[in-house]
Amino acid sequence: MDVAHQYLVKIIGADGIAIIEQLPPGEIVDEVVAADTNIDINAIRKTLFKLYENRLANYRREREPDTGWLTYHWTIHLENINSRLDIEVEKLLHNLRDRLDFEINNVFYTCNNNCTRFLFETAAETDFICPVCANELFYQDNSEMVDKLSYRVSELESSTQE
Ligand SMILES: [Zn+2]
Repeated sequence: MDVAHQYLVKIIGADGIAIIEQLPPGEIVDEVVAADTNIDINAIRKTLFKLYENRLANYRREREPDTGWLTYHWTIHLENINSRLDIEVEKLLHNLRDRLDFEINNVFYTCNNNCTRFLFETAAETDFICPVCANELFYQDNSEMVDKLSYRVSELESSTQE
């Protein structure tokens, strides 16, 4: 499964993918597709709106002169998926860099029960006693975490430099 497919699964799920595989090419009307394919109309709409939220589909609305109902005419733009993926990777990279900076620029304390991690400043305020379990707080070496984060950051950076 390639990255683009994984991304699509994340957005619309395997059910959604099964739906878009059955859609005819070109502009579609959800009611018409539902009638032609026997797929539940709400499932079709849900999938289309999720694609829309991720800029992978567009619609224009038309009001039926007789009933006043709105008809949605949909166009799917899966060709946008690569630029959407680039944005996702940028976001992830940004978050990882923030996280890495945080790990590098702070000193952490924790107790034997690993209740939670405390910043040095917070640990000092409680006299290095865990406020959850009342055990002593001690310095936590985060160099392994820093290494892991640095590795992921450089990995992503090299994957985006083409
Ligand atoms: Zn504790």
